[in-house]
Amino acid sequence: MSDCPFCRIAAGEIPARKLFEDDDVVAFHDLNPQAPVHVLVIPRRHVVSLDAAEDGDAPLLGRLLAGARRAAREAGVASGYRVVTNCGAPAGQSVFHIHLHVLGGRAMSWPPG
Ligand code: AMP
Ligand code: ZN
Repeated sequence: MSDCPFCRIAAGEIPARKLFEDDDVVAFHDLNPQAPVHVLVIPRRHVVSLDAAEDGDAPLLGRLLAGARRAAREAGVASGYRVVTNCGAPAGQSVFHIHLHVLGGRAMSWPPG
């Protein structure tokens, strides 16, 4: 989708501080970090949200989670990190291309706001 910022990052059309990328997923640092480590992991394919994913997308969702684990390791926070996906505007989703937030490098409180 040409008007989707995360599709454009995946395509290399707008700059991002990429941590890694492979055939299926791209990991890059969030522009507005909420923790010392705040990486976003996205699929290259445009899927709007977790709710929009279909049962057939399970392999892709698995690769996304594996990407979050890799991001935590490569960013040096494997001993403790949080993985979040905001699904829908009421939950705080602002970019409608599914992404996992990988947050680490500080203590986390619970429940999230
Ligand atoms: P959400 O609110 O869960 O949809 O998360 C979207 C996240 O994307 C926010 O944390 C933004 O700071 C981040 N973001 C938006 N545009 C960019 C961009 N061009 N590069 C990196 N992060 C971005
Ligand atoms: Zn997209």
